[in-house]
Amino acid sequence: MTPARASDAAQARLAPPPLVVGIARTLRDAGFETWCVGGAVRDALLGYAHLDWDLATAATPPQVRALFKRTVPVGIEFGTVGVLDADNTMHEVTTFRRDVKTDGRHAVVEFGASLDEDLARRDFTINAIAYDPLGERVYDPHHGREDLARRVVRAVGTPGDRMREDRLRALRALRFAARFDFEIDPPTWRAVLDSAPHLGRLSRERVKQEIEKTLQQVGRVGRAMRLWRDSGAFASLVPALANISEGTLLSLEAIPPPANTRSDRAMQRLIALFAELSPRDAERALRDLRFSNKDVAWVGSVLRGWDALHSEMLVALTAYAPPTDTVLRRWAGITGRTRARSVWRLAAARAAASAALGLPAPDARVLASAYRRAMRVAFRDPVEVGDLAVDGHDLQSAGIVAGPSMKVVLSRLLDFVLEDPARNVRDQLLARAAAIVREL
Ligand code: ATP
Ligand code: MG
Repeated sequence: MTPARASDAAQARLAPPPLVVGIARTLRDAGFETWCVGGAVRDALLGYAHLDWDLATAATPPQVRALFKRTVPVGIEFGTVGVLDADNTMHEVTTFRRDVKTDGRHAVVEFGASLDEDLARRDFTINAIAYDPLGERVYDPHHGREDLARRVVRAVGTPGDRMREDRLRALRALRFAARFDFEIDPPTWRAVLDSAPHLGRLSRERVKQEIEKTLQQVGRVGRAMRLWRDSGAFASLVPALANISEGTLLSLEAIPPPANTRSDRAMQRLIALFAELSPRDAERALRDLRFSNKDVAWVGSVLRGWDALHSEMLVALTAYAPPTDTVLRRWAGITGRTRARSVWRLAAARAAASAALGLPAPDARVLASAYRRAMRVAFRDPVEVGDLAVDGHDLQSAGIVAGPSMKVVLSRLLDFVLEDPARNVRDQLLARAAAIVREL
């Protein structure tokens, strides 16, 4: 092999951290060929920062472990050893390997392979570029750099064979295409389509992980989920989303950038993805994908709030006058204070999608201003029964019998307070409760 020198422009970006270069030097000085491979090389060539620089080496795992003071056996059976640097950052060093047996997901690997064999078992050409950080050379036998320039996801080797070896690659193709806004090369796309009926081979946990990575990493997540629909991946893996609507896909792209954290946006996207299902069907699909009870409950409860309110919100927000504080407080009470933000973010995303499709939708500015006011009242004013200045015990002490009528009294007291938070005073509420009981 005769590695080409990287072009100067690309070279400038191919700058692994000094510690990674140091690991490569230690290995090479001990006589083991070592290269940077995978996502970091790809991302560097695209001009993106990437934190984890993975190394591939001719050294076996025991040889790697013998050369470094602090190592972690992260995946010894697959040849991966974590090397820890002074500040505990872990760099993965993986022995060159070849697949000796594949079954659609789990490969049996063998060490003692060459760099060429190692690159040939990687999924896509853009993920199969090697960089020698010591000689500053790129080795790219599958023409990954050309595909980066053409913006194409293309399987290494024969696409159909590669997807049969590991069906996860079909889902990875969809994720990488959406993440970098690349096209999928037609033969690779055909192999993805052929894989769709076989995706049930993947464990639910793996599928969930792929969905989560997509929701976290991908900018154009609507496009990713459209690819899941059009490839048949949803039909096979999440049947409830097999015919997911264009409106829902567009709403996914309209989720504003994270209010605080990445995972916050991923959760909001998960909610938007399932928003066209009934809360019950959404919960069932999520449970089936092995999402945690906590996540299932959260998505279900936000969607219940959305279910209860969305028609009324649409009418109120497209009306001549913006909703009053009383209405906003009532809505916050229906969704629950803690879920109000999520329901509003969903409303904003769906409104943007409707507008993009030319359907009736609230004006974005009207909605944004109502959203801000809604958050203010939800966290300032009494909006839930629990916020009332009296509780069931107080009412019992005042002679109201426990039972169904108690619920009615409390809910009427809440209506009374929603109209004017200043009424949330114990004596006023007890007097009002007595009046309500008389009416009943
Ligand atoms: P990310 O930024 O999402 O981590 P990545 O390219 O680093 O992207 P990883 O899943 O971390 O992806 O995998 C590292 C590398 O291992 C890939 O770049 C690819 O070369 C190879 N690889 C990972 N999964 C597969 C697979 N299922 N089949 C073949 N090669 C794979
Ligand atoms: Mg990675």
